Amino acid sequence: MKRSSYDLVVIGAGAAGLLAAGRAAMLGASVLLLEKMEKPARKLRISGKGRANITNMKALEDHLKEIHPEPRFLRQAFGAFFNRDLIALLEEMGVETKTERGERVFPVSDKAWDVAEALVAWAKRQGVEIVHQSRVEKLILDENGFAGLMVASTAGPRRIEAKCGIVATGGRSYPGTGSSGDGFLFAEQTGHRVDPLRPSLVAIETNPSFPRAKGLSLKNVQLSLWIAEKKQGSEFGEAEFTEKGLDGPIVLRLSRRIVDAVAAGQRVTVSLDLKPALDPQKLEARLLREMEARKGGSCQDLLRSLLPPQLVEVFTLALHVKPTGPLSQITAPLRKKLLHLLKDWRFEVVGHGSWERAIVTAGGVSLKDIDPKTMASRRVRGLYFAGEVLDLDANTGGFNLQIAFSTGWLAGESAARKASGEA
Ligand SMILES: Cc1cc2nc3c(=O)[nH]c(=O)nc-3n(C[C@H](O)[C@H](O)[C@H](O)COP(=O)(O)OP(=O)(O)OC[C@H]3O[C@@H](n4cnc5c(N)ncnc54)[C@H](O)[C@@H]3O)c2cc1C
Repeated sequence: MKRSSYDLVVIGAGAAGLLAAGRAAMLGASVLLLEKMEKPARKLRISGKGRANITNMKALEDHLKEIHPEPRFLRQAFGAFFNRDLIALLEEMGVETKTERGERVFPVSDKAWDVAEALVAWAKRQGVEIVHQSRVEKLILDENGFAGLMVASTAGPRRIEAKCGIVATGGRSYPGTGSSGDGFLFAEQTGHRVDPLRPSLVAIETNPSFPRAKGLSLKNVQLSLWIAEKKQGSEFGEAEFTEKGLDGPIVLRLSRRIVDAVAAGQRVTVSLDLKPALDPQKLEARLLREMEARKGGSCQDLLRSLLPPQLVEVFTLALHVKPTGPLSQITAPLRKKLLHLLKDWRFEVVGHGSWERAIVTAGGVSLKDIDPKTMASRRVRGLYFAGEVLDLDANTGGFNLQIAFSTGWLAGESAARKASGEA
């Protein structure tokens, strides 16, 4: 650290922290950005399977529908900096973007790494001093509010003074990227409420599970969620079998409600419709046609015409038929059972993935304690929060990163104005 006093100190060099620091420096603030890992933006670098789905081009109202629990909180942040602003900023940095299915935006290079490197270089160009391997341990407050912090660095503990501070420490999931939940402690220690933390966008563990089908991805299927025997929603798209259950985009989209229901001790089941394009009558007609065409063949011949190879054995076991046995084994009642399995294959949810594998954290610093116009704390003057540390989370599709970028930008702007005495 070049100095011991700054206008602004930002904790955490992820998507939110980089934007906050860069924007504040752009407005003339002296900014120190502290990152505990040896490299900034580790989570951004692995986002979108290494491709970084950085935002989504859906219109504002549709964008907000993807966000929980209080989407309206983001109106001002999105007003200050939204998807087109992000794309324009990246283009200025030399990162071209492209829009794919579902309005999801990625860098043309398909490399999250390029986005991270460009943001780091941009922040430095604005004058931000970035210091790695510097873990903030404690915030320091005085009678005026935020006064600075204590940081543990390779050279030992150090006190840094600053007029303003921004906590951009991320959530609790994927702790290997550095976001292990420190920001929630800082928030609590300085009198903020933290809404209960839960892993979200996470795979589910089911009974039965089919470890031998692990890796099998099913496209164009429908997954319905049942909580305490009531249907709670359904999603159409892609699901994947895992060692212990199910994963994939449609599972992730339902996972927020699943995690809450499991935590509340409710009975949760999901039902997989493998043939959503066919109603039961049409599917039965198709089944009869396939059986007619395979007269004299085996059960597995029929099942292969209906299912991916990895599920043929699963279905022969469920139907209690011999795979190589004659098709005549499939009597009318078994045909009904097969139809049922194809349209309404039930799995009891017995658990979900841990913090290690959850894509985002639901819960966080209570929005009641934050001013949506500035991202400033309502409890400590000069302190701001941005990114996943806030009680905001969204579906997959680029919405979570946009939350981090937008709240970071607004927090940086507000803190710079405050530090300069403007606000
Ligand atoms: C595998 C995976 C894939 C994802 N893919 C996508 C995607 O494609 N699109 C999308 O929109 N979202 C995606 N997300 C979610 C998205 O990456 C996050 O929501 C977003 O990165 C959060 O940004 P942030 O800046 O708030 O926090 P983070 O990116 O987690 O940054 C927080 C930073 O703070 C640092 N830090 C923490 N504590 C301290 C401390 N005490 N002192 C100093 N530094 C500290 C951490 O080391 C970290 O660098 C994905 C997440 C995961 C895990």
